[in-house]
Amino acid sequence: MPGRSSKASSSDPRKMSPTEHKGACLCKGVQYTLAGEPQTVVICHCPDCAASGGSGFSVNAWYAKENVQVTAGADLLRTYEDIGRLTPDNTVLREFCSICGSNVFGTAPQRPESPVFVAVGTVIGDLGPEFTPKKEFYCLFRDKWMHPVDGASSDLSDIPFPLTKATWRETETTS
Ligand SMILES: [Zn+2]
Ligand SMILES: [Zn+2]
Repeated sequence: MPGRSSKASSSDPRKMSPTEHKGACLCKGVQYTLAGEPQTVVICHCPDCAASGGSGFSVNAWYAKENVQVTAGADLLRTYEDIGRLTPDNTVLREFCSICGSNVFGTAPQRPESPVFVAVGTVIGDLGPEFTPKKEFYCLFRDKWMHPVDGASSDLSDIPFPLTKATWRETETTS
């Protein structure tokens, strides 16, 4: 879980490091800062990320917990414990704004060293190449209309059984 800070000291522009990024949910109720550049940026095609964001995939920037500070609206964040359906130890705590529904953060609680997965769509500003996806996960679920991202690695080995997004959703709705 990211750090929480209600202090306004980090909002002093004179103290702002050039590599600090700011972010906010859709309604701007939840606001945060990111220190430095992401460890990596990952597209995830898994059906859980697709359903959670209501889109075909998620794009997350990975940051060490200590580099993520919630500066406003920590009380608006709610956590959904998404118990991994693809592999049992794959639980993701998905934090979202309870007002506007934006996905903002995720963490993997079973891995203490887990970074915070920051939803790139909530990072404010004209983002540089540091925010270009470097890896794609669960590529067997990649929608057919979507091409691999240039320069990003495609992980095709992370699904332990053959399954497509369509058959996965079928399994979900008929069980
Ligand atoms: Zn919001
Ligand atoms: Zn995913």
